[in-house]
Amino acid sequence: MSYLDLSTEDLKKELSKLKSEMEEIKALELNLDLSRGKPDKEQLNLSMEMLNTVNSKSILDAESGMDCRNYGGLDGIPEAKQLMADMMGTRPENVIVGGNSSLTLMYDIISHAMTDGLLGEKPWCQVEDRKFLCPAPGYDRHFAITEHFGMKLIPVPMNENGPDMDVVEELVSSDDTIKGIWCVPKYENPMGIVFSDETIQRFANLKPLAKDFRIFWDNAYCVHSIYQNEETDIPDIISECEKAGNPDMVYEFCSTSKITFPGSGISAVASSPANLIDIKGFLKYATIGPDKINQLRHVRYFKNIAGIKAHMAKHADILRPKFEAVDKILNDELNGLGIAEWTKPNGGYFISFNTLKGCASDTVTLCSKMGVAFTPAGATYPYGNDPEDQNIRIAPTFANMKDIKLATKIFALSVKIVTLEKLINKAA
Ligand code: PMP
Repeated sequence: MSYLDLSTEDLKKELSKLKSEMEEIKALELNLDLSRGKPDKEQLNLSMEMLNTVNSKSILDAESGMDCRNYGGLDGIPEAKQLMADMMGTRPENVIVGGNSSLTLMYDIISHAMTDGLLGEKPWCQVEDRKFLCPAPGYDRHFAITEHFGMKLIPVPMNENGPDMDVVEELVSSDDTIKGIWCVPKYENPMGIVFSDETIQRFANLKPLAKDFRIFWDNAYCVHSIYQNEETDIPDIISECEKAGNPDMVYEFCSTSKITFPGSGISAVASSPANLIDIKGFLKYATIGPDKINQLRHVRYFKNIAGIKAHMAKHADILRPKFEAVDKILNDELNGLGIAEWTKPNGGYFISFNTLKGCASDTVTLCSKMGVAFTPAGATYPYGNDPEDQNIRIAPTFANMKDIKLATKIFALSVKIVTLEKLINKAA
């Protein structure tokens, strides 16, 4: 029975029952955590063999003959370009393979735009009121980069097909101080949705007023399906932008952080020839070259995209039961109460949960009092400010199954208590 149909007296009865459960849980002094979007140890173990592909006996020459032990190769070795291009579904000539973090590449490109400007345009630091579009719920570290560089962050609503493109088109075509947009097109962090083909077409065909407007297409979860039959290959944004006459409008990113080892993977950026020259133009001051031995290690281990896909199927086998356990408990505990909605993603690392308006931060606070940590409510919005205080990101990958189940039950209890209190207060 929906809480929304209960009398105040019944709401109070229900609340007092749940509060005694809460006291019992508090006494257990638990220490659980569903905040971290990290692979668990079993997932990390999947890649241990990669460390054996390169050793002191190996010949460490790339396909090009370059000795990977030495300096050089600013844009990565050719076989790594091929592998990362295949992951993103684009062409190797459009790719630069970087160091261990795609987030660093994003930061560096924005930093370059700030100080030097993009392809001869005015440096962004000279653009007063510079702005960036932030589809929300989205990834807090994206928002943080642009906030750090003094951009005004403009939230754009998300729907099940991606960002609301009516809003995006209207904004970018009317304001030349809007310099870019963050996107996670596949298994978005945190909603888990995949942008529709129409959304992607509309992105490629944007008519921004700013010549140096850029789409930051962070394809971090491009091969991270949790269902094998769910092979959602999205259109290649690089070719789509080319076809639409906007070749320089997009940078695409990916990495192997959640394929092999976060922090010890390889990253890549794909873009137009002009943008690649522009990127290499600043990269050459920042480094003499990336870690090519790690690039070689990755390519020799996976061999090709089929190798990556087979490896990701093993990740999926570990992750699927965890996502399903959370979904089942949320269904058992909350379905029909009319107080919550959540996503059931086919890939990625997160479940996005919406409470009734005004309940998210109190829910996270109550969870922490019961010994369960969640990402702070609001973190999925620019400036950490969810205007409706509704969204909570659940990260079910890192904890073990027993902890995930207990933490999700406590989370559901917390949602119920907080919502009941609000409903009772409202009725009073
Ligand atoms: N982009 C997204 C959307 C992510 O969720 C993450 C990791 N949480 C990253 C980038 C970080 O990638 P990297 O380790 O390559 O810096």
